[in-house]
Amino acid sequence: MSSYDVIIIGSGPGGYVSAIRCAQLGMKTAIIEKYPTLGGTCLNVGCIPSKALLDSSEHYHNAVHTFGEHGIEVKTVKANITQMINRKNEVVSQTCAGVKFLMDKNKIDVHQGVGSFVDKNSVKVKNDAGEETIITGKNIIIATGSKPNYFPGMEPDKKRIITSTEALNLQEIPKKMLVIGGGVIGLELGSVYGRLGTQIEVVEFANTIIPTMDGTLGKELTRVLKKEGFKFHLEHRVQSVENKGKSVLLKALNKKGEEVQLEADYCLVAVGRKAYTEGLNLEAAGLSVNQRGQVEVNDHLQTAVPNIYAIGDVVRGAMLAHKAEEEGVYIAEQLAGQKPHINYNLIPGVVYTWPEVAAVGKTEEELKAAGVAYKAGSFPIKALGRARASMDTAGLIKVLADANTDEVLGVHMIAPRAADLIMEAVIAMEYRASAEDIARICHPHPTYSEALKEAALDATESRALHV
Ligand code: FAD
Ligand code: NAD
Repeated sequence: MSSYDVIIIGSGPGGYVSAIRCAQLGMKTAIIEKYPTLGGTCLNVGCIPSKALLDSSEHYHNAVHTFGEHGIEVKTVKANITQMINRKNEVVSQTCAGVKFLMDKNKIDVHQGVGSFVDKNSVKVKNDAGEETIITGKNIIIATGSKPNYFPGMEPDKKRIITSTEALNLQEIPKKMLVIGGGVIGLELGSVYGRLGTQIEVVEFANTIIPTMDGTLGKELTRVLKKEGFKFHLEHRVQSVENKGKSVLLKALNKKGEEVQLEADYCLVAVGRKAYTEGLNLEAAGLSVNQRGQVEVNDHLQTAVPNIYAIGDVVRGAMLAHKAEEEGVYIAEQLAGQKPHINYNLIPGVVYTWPEVAAVGKTEEELKAAGVAYKAGSFPIKALGRARASMDTAGLIKVLADANTDEVLGVHMIAPRAADLIMEAVIAMEYRASAEDIARICHPHPTYSEALKEAALDATESRALHV
């Protein structure tokens, strides 16, 4: 029986990063993964494949819609979905192989199979061949992630009523696709197929898309996506979705309580994800899940059983790869006797539409609800020379600062390359910068980052220079 300092169950960004940090700190480490490839949701069926398809579809969209204006004449442009999916698969397999390389390099033992607790220090691993091994660990980290969620009436059959996993592997470009949920997955994967020519209709329960983000972003993104051909059915309550063979039929109630029927080739169910603990046999370790199916942890990510920790999508908080990674490093360093820290207020969120949407800190709605006196400054992307040069003129950046101290409390942007731009705001906020600090820093010209400086100037004293 092998014994370890740390056993990690699940090899997503939480688990594999934690394993590397544990090994770096001198701990004898094992990782258990039920699938044959490492990397979890993020690498196999999440962040990486979705971004690969977003990039391919963006190239196609530009070739069709903007190349001509740039003076590039292309005679025939054809979207080859099979090649797009093949390229995506290649990106995924290279990235997963990279994680295996990192495990080997750091001398981390990889056990393929389903991990289930025998007791608080032992885990049974049952591999695909049905063979069972028991390994023991002084500490165990649960990093088993999440699975797609759905509600009664919209159960995915994985053929026509699909989740993100199937949407990443379609063999045809649908004529029409319904998307239940105007959140991150719905809008990213909706964008992939929308750019390839699919008519996208989003059915959303709330009165806006991306409802958890600052309201300004939802409004601007709605405007942009409508121009691209998206249709939105807001404040609609889905009653049922039915696979009709070659099509799907969705029935929903609108806010007046009237029945609305929508038909399409496919229906993507994207109403959130739920923590995944199936097969873990938590009871054997003395653990259970809360009402939301999550493993409960304290501020130190420790469960009710002191030597067992949990991180990433399986615990409370944002379901994001970088949040899972930070938590993985946190546990490793804590086990090594260090005093790590995670600032949960400064975990940035990104939606990879085009333009991209990104945010950090408090939204205007949150500041209002908390009664915080704040000031807001914003700057439209279309006023940037850089944006006119690239013809990416939609969007804006908004800076929220404390009315008394000028400390930046939140930054919200819909802008070209916002996914990368947001890091300037994260760093500024980590060092508790004021809006004026950002405004006084020299930003390179011409760049999209000038919009952040200008929005900060606007927040400081309404003294943006270029509007
Ligand atoms: P996971 O990545 O879910 O990994 C858990 C692993 O545990 C899995 O490999 C699973 O097989 C394994 N496992 C489960 N139970 C057992 C068991 N009993 N024994 C052995 N192994 C087990 N986040 C971002 O930050 N940026 C993005 O751009 C982004 N895009 C996304 C796009 C899509 C389509 C989806 C679905 C998600 C996306 N996410 C994105 C979210 C991101 O994938 C998750 O937040 C992240 O993967 C969570 O990491 P994790 O380590 O907690 O769990
Ligand atoms: P989400 O929480 O982002 O969006 C779900 C949407 O569905 C919300 O707008 C919600 O109001 C709506 N909804 C809920 N119930 C509904 C119902 N019955 N009918 C109609 N609409 C309903 O969830 P998601 O898009 O499924 O993504 C899941 C998780 O994966 C998210 O937590 C996200 O953090 C993560 N993810 C992140 C990225 C990224 O970082 N770029 C990309 C994809 C996924």
